[in-house]
Amino acid sequence: MPQPSNPLASDRRGVMFVISSPSGAGKSALSRLLLQSDKDISLSVSVTTRPRRPSEVDGVHYHFLSVKAFEALRDRGDLLEWAEVHGNFYGTPRGPVELALAEGRDVLFDIDVQGTLQLYTKMRSDVVSVFILPPSIPELERRLRRRAEDTDAVIARRLKNAEGEIAHWGDYDYVLVNADIEKCFGELKQILAVERMKRHRQTQLGEEIARLNAELAAEAARLS
Ligand code: 5GP
Repeated sequence: MPQPSNPLASDRRGVMFVISSPSGAGKSALSRLLLQSDKDISLSVSVTTRPRRPSEVDGVHYHFLSVKAFEALRDRGDLLEWAEVHGNFYGTPRGPVELALAEGRDVLFDIDVQGTLQLYTKMRSDVVSVFILPPSIPELERRLRRRAEDTDAVIARRLKNAEGEIAHWGDYDYVLVNADIEKCFGELKQILAVERMKRHRQTQLGEEIARLNAELAAEAARLS
């Protein structure tokens, strides 16, 4: 007998998986691990006016734009959200996200609190948000310095902004402390796994229920 299709394995709307944290809390490393280990999620590549770091590749980590080009995109309504963070503009291109969600693919967003709040107002039921906390502020500073790609002034600015960012922990669906990256990554994967199964994302459930009801009716008729 043919097996019924499993509605939990496919035919669902994609998750907008948002990860935010103060700079240095380990969000980028967690994002990288997730993207490497899970083929069903892809990164929303943001546009930014920040200068490219030596290790970054244009089109992979960000699309690096002039302020003028950024403003043109924004003013045309091509950004799903945008914000000024640490003195630079960042934004999420709309097209790739809308396409992925409609095709049932998940999208990972490495965006700040302001961007997360904008996504809530537009697409709250699609968004699952996770805030990553550092285990301590000295550890946060150590991680920022270890990256060794930013100047002292940039690091100082990012540390100064951490307080305001951490204050928004209560706006997120989940909060994780990244003391141990493996443990934190495991928790992140669990969140994504259960969120994928949420009823409102199972777009085929109506058909599954109709099929079960038809089978019930047929069985009732056979037994009467
Ligand atoms: P970084 O310069 O370290 O790559 O990123 C600085 C901050 O900007 C991080 O908190 C990052 O999450 C945030 N960010 C990156 N892309 C976007 C975006 O498209 N929108 C918003 N709102 N924030 C972003």
